[in-house]
Amino acid sequence: MSGSGEAVAERTHSEAAAAQREAAGARGEALETLHRVFGYDAFRGEQEAIIRQVLDGGDAVVLMPTGGGKSLCYQIPALVRPGTGVVISPLIALMQDQVDALRALGVRAGFINSTQDLDQRRTVEAELLAGELDLLYLAPERLRVEATVALLGRARISLFAVDEAHCVAQWGHDFRPDYLALSMLGERWPDVPRIALTATATRATHQEITQRLGMPHARHFVAGFDRPNIQYRIVPKNDPKKQLLAFLKEEHAGDSGIVYCLSRASVDRTAAFLCDNGIEAVPYHAGLDAGTRAVHQSRFLREEGLVVVATIAFGMGIDKPDVRFVAHLDLPKSVEGYYQETGRAGRDGLPSTAWMTYGLQDVVQQRKMIQGSEGDDTFRRRAAAHLDSMLALCETADCRRGRLLQYFGQEAVAPACGNCDTCISPPETWDGTVAAQKVLSTVVRLERERRQKFGTGQIIDILLGRKTAKVIQFDHDQLSVFGVGDDLSEGQWRGVVRQLLAQSLLAVEGEYGTLVLTPASGSVLAREREVRLRKEPEKPVAARAAKSERKAKAAAADLPQEAVPVFEALRAWRGRQAKEQGVPAYVIFHDATLREIATVRPASLSELGGIAGLGEKKLATYGEGVLEVLADPGAAEPA
Ligand code: ADP
Ligand code: ZN
Repeated sequence: MSGSGEAVAERTHSEAAAAQREAAGARGEALETLHRVFGYDAFRGEQEAIIRQVLDGGDAVVLMPTGGGKSLCYQIPALVRPGTGVVISPLIALMQDQVDALRALGVRAGFINSTQDLDQRRTVEAELLAGELDLLYLAPERLRVEATVALLGRARISLFAVDEAHCVAQWGHDFRPDYLALSMLGERWPDVPRIALTATATRATHQEITQRLGMPHARHFVAGFDRPNIQYRIVPKNDPKKQLLAFLKEEHAGDSGIVYCLSRASVDRTAAFLCDNGIEAVPYHAGLDAGTRAVHQSRFLREEGLVVVATIAFGMGIDKPDVRFVAHLDLPKSVEGYYQETGRAGRDGLPSTAWMTYGLQDVVQQRKMIQGSEGDDTFRRRAAAHLDSMLALCETADCRRGRLLQYFGQEAVAPACGNCDTCISPPETWDGTVAAQKVLSTVVRLERERRQKFGTGQIIDILLGRKTAKVIQFDHDQLSVFGVGDDLSEGQWRGVVRQLLAQSLLAVEGEYGTLVLTPASGSVLAREREVRLRKEPEKPVAARAAKSERKAKAAAADLPQEAVPVFEALRAWRGRQAKEQGVPAYVIFHDATLREIATVRPASLSELGGIAGLGEKKLATYGEGVLEVLADPGAAEPA
């Protein structure tokens, strides 16, 4: 090796050592930032490893369930690395809240989006170029504008975070075409680390994210997907609005929650129905004007105990910690969608419920929708596969949580979780082969009358031997199957038909939902296979077991008695602060923080600083106020 070669080697060596020292320093800084800014003691789960990867300049793909703590994974590196962290997020309507929450922590955050006027945008641009921003939020469509790319080109960028990264996946349920253009980030800024984050995690989606964002060298971090504090329940649908009302009154009176419906019309009807019955509810769907949607979303974030009835247009990125329930009145289109939506409950880790009503009509309707859709064959096959997985979850007699985790490619911790309806009250299964044969042979006989189309109702009437006008009109009382099904009730027959549809032993056709055989039906008719069915519960799973498991809903539950008035006084004080500043209460302090303060009752600012969730800025802003409340809790006026 020549002398100059050695010199180069030496320099490289010392540069590497310097880089290593710098990296070690940055890691120490990460922990220090966690304490100082966020007021937390320690990293959770994989946070530390993810942050280290990004601090070291590498790319990361992060799959973590809702509430797992994804935000810190890019916020801390953005604070530690020189320059501005650019966060790509599709949620324009939430950017203001996100930025407000960060500013309350003393983080220099800003956003650029279409809700701003020119002056506001100019101010943020100037801050960015002057190096005065730690974090900048942008919607993906912004990056299609050359001027934005040029602006970023003139700024110093510490990292790119692609939030809600599953939006790039066409296989997923939230696809947004603008995300496809994000692969340009790696080409245009090869030296800037990128971190993609999502709470959606099937293998297919995971692969698509990595490939489409162009992150072949990224390290992958896959957290456990279980949300043990969420109780999953799927109940047979009879009278969904009434069932919902009973569920809310018995288990979630006064709680915040989200009710999902498939159509805008049913959103409006359900919201009105809840209001008529004394539950404060607002609708949210794409048919409402932007102003109304913004007001309803903002009320949901700011008020306690408000119910939002919504289509799937609502909820992504909502980081309200105390959503106590998510209810589905209609069947979601995929397990991924279902898991995302239910995941919005209980981010604070307290007991919450994911509750759904599901019935025959859901299956018929969705199968019809897929057939009638405009998409090509590939699209239809995907949609059908998604639906099949969702139906399998609904019809399973096994632990729902186990099924969900399996779907995401993860092992369940135990064979039964003890916190889902099938665990709490295990459904019986029965040999439904003969019943299935009865239904299928009726369908065969009706299929022969090609000119006429008959749905489930006619088939059940025939099986039960009912001489309705329509039965007599078509001489169906002359069929050999007429009346062969009087061993089961109408409800039970509907259950049989539903499960045959779910298992693809029956199919629906055309706009009337005519029942037809499938390639698999033959083996049942030929007695070549057994059909196991889930017994329809006489009554839905009693809330009894559920209820005793549940902690009382009030945020003050479980506090030592003497801490309760202090906690309430702190809450009242927090409510006033939030109102004055026009931010959600949890931006000031989370319930968990107030609970700890009320229990510990710190006597000085330095003691107060030891509470989780109280960083430097919040201590400076609110410390004195909190100590005043603690000194005389009785003096605080109710909010
Ligand atoms: P996600 O984006 O994954 O849904 P968040 O980033 O909103 O989750 O975090 C969920 C909650 O957990 C937030 O209230 C956050 O402040 C809290 N949190 C995150 N990391 C920590 C930590 N290391 N220690 C304590 N609390 C944390
Ligand atoms: Zn279970």
